Amino acid sequence: MTVPGLLIVISGPSGTGKGTICKSLLKRRPDIFLSVSATTRLPRAGETDGKEYHFKDKTDFEAMLARDEFLEWAPVYDNYYGTPKTPVDEALAQGRDVLLEIDIKGALKVKQKAPDGIYIFVIPPSMEALRARITGRGTDSMEVITKRLGKSMEELSHLHEYNYVVVNDILEEAVDKVECIIVAESSRTNRYRIQRDAGPEAPLLADKLS
Ligand code: 5GP
Repeated sequence: MTVPGLLIVISGPSGTGKGTICKSLLKRRPDIFLSVSATTRLPRAGETDGKEYHFKDKTDFEAMLARDEFLEWAPVYDNYYGTPKTPVDEALAQGRDVLLEIDIKGALKVKQKAPDGIYIFVIPPSMEALRARITGRGTDSMEVITKRLGKSMEELSHLHEYNYVVVNDILEEAVDKVECIIVAESSRTNRYRIQRDAGPEAPLLADKLS
């Protein structure tokens, strides 16, 4: 029997570098399934449909919503973002750990549906660092930057709704921490029960308790 994978949700204020942490984590752990979100935002230079996001127009996104295809969705700034449900469910059922990199509103919605997921909040080392990261991305207008900064300040207050916090100062250290969290969580005893009646060939630890 396959032990379902872990649902790992990485979230935090805009500009904390959670996307970079996820990319680096996936290089180390290519076995983790990254959920590709749908969004109505336009692709940035270098982004490919189906890789960073499934880029949709508003009508298509709303059709997905009407078909109840999202695990969660949220308006972020002026666009919609959503996590398609089926690929996440399928990967978990196959025993793969699944990574979601989503905003705080979305993460808290997922937490209501899946409280046994792992919720990791990424924060910058200082407000100054946050300001520098948001400004330094260089792809957004001044108006968007100001909006993101204000929102990030408010978002920091959600820290305690998460299981773990990771300060993203030195990238590799932040990724080390996330990796350690995943290893520890996948080793928790309450994720398993002993299969008493299985034959001698069966794995000893199987069948997640839920
Ligand atoms: P960006 O447009 O810069 O790629 O992402 C903007 C924000 O949307 C980021 O905070 C990112 O984590 C969040 N985001 C990306 N995908 C999703 C999603 O599927 N659902 C939610 N709620 N937020 C998302």
